[in-house]
Amino acid sequence: VTGTTLGLEFEDMGLPRGLLMGIFEAGFERPSPIQESAIPYGLQHRDILARAKNGTGKTAAFVIPVLAQLKLDNTASRPSISALILVPTRELALQTAQVTKTLSKHMGVEVMVTTGGTTLKDDIIRLQSPAGVHVLVGTPGRVLDLAGKGVCDLSSCGVFVMDEADKLLSVEFGTVVEGLLAYLPPQRQVMCFSATFPVGVKEFKDKHMSSPYEINLMDELTLKGVTQYYAYVEERQKVHCLNTLFSKLQINQSIIFCNSTNRVELLAKKITELGYSCFYSHAKMLQSHRNRVFHDFRSGTCRNLVCSDLLTRGIDIQAVNVVINFDFPKNSETYLHRIGRSGRFGHLGLAINLVTYEDRFNLDRIERELGTEITPIPREVERGLY
Ligand code: ADP
Ligand code: MG
Repeated sequence: VTGTTLGLEFEDMGLPRGLLMGIFEAGFERPSPIQESAIPYGLQHRDILARAKNGTGKTAAFVIPVLAQLKLDNTASRPSISALILVPTRELALQTAQVTKTLSKHMGVEVMVTTGGTTLKDDIIRLQSPAGVHVLVGTPGRVLDLAGKGVCDLSSCGVFVMDEADKLLSVEFGTVVEGLLAYLPPQRQVMCFSATFPVGVKEFKDKHMSSPYEINLMDELTLKGVTQYYAYVEERQKVHCLNTLFSKLQINQSIIFCNSTNRVELLAKKITELGYSCFYSHAKMLQSHRNRVFHDFRSGTCRNLVCSDLLTRGIDIQAVNVVINFDFPKNSETYLHRIGRSGRFGHLGLAINLVTYEDRFNLDRIERELGTEITPIPREVERGLY
């Protein structure tokens, strides 16, 4: 299907009462198009392969069917894991677990999040605690680790979700995900969500999904609501250019992307020297530190965050109205995911690309591949655009 509106309301979906309360308390009045398309099929235990653009509410589109299908029998002994939600990064795992907890607030659901970079022992204690776990949210490596050690029983886990599925099926995670599938029961439901589905996903679909319901809502303008500009600069002028942007733009919060860990740290230092508040985050930092940065940035303690592609996917911070590619990305997928950090759920956003002479072919290619327009930055950026 494409973006047809059936006019379905949350109340019409036959959801448990507690879940409906959680949905409304989260401030969701009507389902978004992807939610309207996916939830009814998810509730029927159908496999789903769904593609929808960034910021359109994919998380709730899978979390709601996950929660609605839980068998919450309070008299039973310790609950066993009924659903597994896999995501590619630690920050996204925390965020997704948070959404799951918010929506299930009135259901008495045990949600556990597990990612690398934390001690295995704490996870084992949590898994074996009397409260048990209904929904496990995690990154592939850690979940496989726990399953392999026999401390994480996935034998009655009937629902399996992959968010940012194409990333989870890339070379980086593919074999780990394959390994994990062996621990799940054969009758599991598989739901895959992403904004990008390269060819690799087809192989997985043919091998591990049974006649999935396929949704593609990419016909909608992919980067609607985000105005994209570029500025030609020489490498050594980039910081100066950024300084000008900071002084001219009305930044609510910004995310600034660099192409390497080293450059993240160097730039964060420069920005601080310029007198602007700034956090940074990259893959080589301690996980506890990364979590604190992410949490503090989200709560608005700091205006700017410099990072590597670690935070490219899925991260949802509505206060971010400006995304700056300090380094221009190498491919259109990365570009799309980075830029999608602003303009979330109907909010407007601004994307500014610092482009060097070497980047010029990439700029053309990405514009073409995404069928989008990236125009030279005007002297004054209209305030109404972001
Ligand atoms: P995606 O995964 O598609 O990029 P998210 O699931 O992160 O998008 O959702 C983007 C934002 O939209 C979140 O802040 C979320 O709270 C909000 N949102 C999701 N569904 C609804 C809804 N039905 N009504 C209002 N806001 C919603
Ligand atoms: Mg998402």
